[in-house]
Amino acid sequence: MTKRLLLIGLAISLIISWGIFSCRGPAEKYDLVIKQGLVLDGSGNPWFRADLGLKGQKIVAIKDRLEPQAASRIIEAEGLVIAPGFIDIHTHADRDLLDIPGCENYISQGVTTLVGGNCGGHDFPLAELFRQIEKKGIACNFASLAGHNTIRRQVMGMKMEKPTAEEMNRMKELLRQEMAAGAIGLSTGLAYLPGTYSSTEELVELAAVLSQTGGFYASHIRNQGQRITEAIEEAIAVGEKNGIPVEISHIKLAAEEVWNQLERITVPVEAARARGVEVTLDQYPYTATSSGFTSSLPQEVFEGGRDKFLERLKDPEIYNRVKQAVIRSRLTSRRGIDKLETIYVASSRKFPGYEGKNLKQILELQGKAVNVDNGAELIIDLVREGDVSAIFFQMDEKDVEALMRLPYVMIGSDGGLQLAGQGSPHPRSYGTFPRVLGEYVRERKIITLEEAVRKMTSFPAQTMRLKNRGMIREGYYADLTIFNPAEVRDTATFAQPHQHSRGIIYVLVNGQVVLEQGKFTGKRPGAIIYGPGYRKK
Ligand SMILES: [Zn+2]
Repeated sequence: MTKRLLLIGLAISLIISWGIFSCRGPAEKYDLVIKQGLVLDGSGNPWFRADLGLKGQKIVAIKDRLEPQAASRIIEAEGLVIAPGFIDIHTHADRDLLDIPGCENYISQGVTTLVGGNCGGHDFPLAELFRQIEKKGIACNFASLAGHNTIRRQVMGMKMEKPTAEEMNRMKELLRQEMAAGAIGLSTGLAYLPGTYSSTEELVELAAVLSQTGGFYASHIRNQGQRITEAIEEAIAVGEKNGIPVEISHIKLAAEEVWNQLERITVPVEAARARGVEVTLDQYPYTATSSGFTSSLPQEVFEGGRDKFLERLKDPEIYNRVKQAVIRSRLTSRRGIDKLETIYVASSRKFPGYEGKNLKQILELQGKAVNVDNGAELIIDLVREGDVSAIFFQMDEKDVEALMRLPYVMIGSDGGLQLAGQGSPHPRSYGTFPRVLGEYVRERKIITLEEAVRKMTSFPAQTMRLKNRGMIREGYYADLTIFNPAEVRDTATFAQPHQHSRGIIYVLVNGQVVLEQGKFTGKRPGAIIYGPGYRKK
């Protein structure tokens, strides 16, 4: 009996001493320690001072102080903010990742995750794009939505009518396929072709796939001007009828008639949220939009595809009707604004000389009279040539600020990957995130720094249901942005867009440094982030 007790006692003391020994064991080795930064953890809480210990792809320790000898490498972050890497829920990066794998214009903004497949268009089939990206290697993480326009075009081409039961089944099948390939949800672009041809019923039925696979519904809504409330309600209906989250893309009051009428957005959104529909929005901090010109024309002229469109334009009656519609939708102002001065050609393969110039300047270049008739004809000429993107100054700064103050609006660039010097793109591709931090937080004090960082990190991560990203927590991926809060700012302008932002000092993706003292390291640690319906093949 005593012998037995003795044995048990021995065993217990062994266990205890083993425990103590292992606690006192050799100091844990970190791959990297970031010392004494102001940690803004993404939750919206005020910063706290701490050391972060990183090992492999993860943050493994957050302590007031970590032993310096425990680190292979140290980054001194005294006076700098350490935030989770920014997550851009709205980009058009997609296939360009294969040509621009360094993601420089996003890394330099502190962005570590890009979401593509927005506004109804994605690279089809996704499995193939993901395979090529993984083979190539990219600097930032990438996730993609599956686009309704892409899927509809696959099944129905440019048909204007509603899908037959057979076509509907085929579209659902393709969406299921893309969700299984790893899409994070469904996007629509209802101002673009062929999305403009679809009905709410079609969208509700297609999105029903997501109630089985998971994922959210992101929508470039049908109208961002006078019918914006209806358009928001349509997006809400798609989510509400299927019990899925709704993200309204690049929210804006994009017509003079609705400027400063924020209630057109807040009333339907807040009513839906009160009913328990998860509705969120994203915005970029500029008063200009960027897209092609096709949405300025009556949509039926595109029915059946490009050749038919070109054929129809030869009919003088149709041509004139198109022209009047362009004048109405793009070149008329009730506030006496000369619209010809507000529309710029961003890129055009056929007319590179027009890039960076507004319609008035282009008409002058052509030796034509500057008037709306010639302006409309110029727009039709540009659409005829295809492949033209433009910049439209069509928002009011007060609305941009008011939207930013809403807690359920996050930040997304709506930009794309850019090659230095190519075209005259919207500066949002280079400046969105630093512009919010510099201009809207520090200079104008529209929102706090904590709130801005939340809108760039934990909030999009929550909408996308990202696991272990978007916050600074032990066990989370070490996607981090270290910036100087007194200096961070955008430098890209509409006149000179190809300029990297300032004040972003270090950027880490999955534990690896991709930006160091403002310089790109060339590393490509980015991962594909697969959606909830992903089935590994
Ligand atoms: Zn869009």
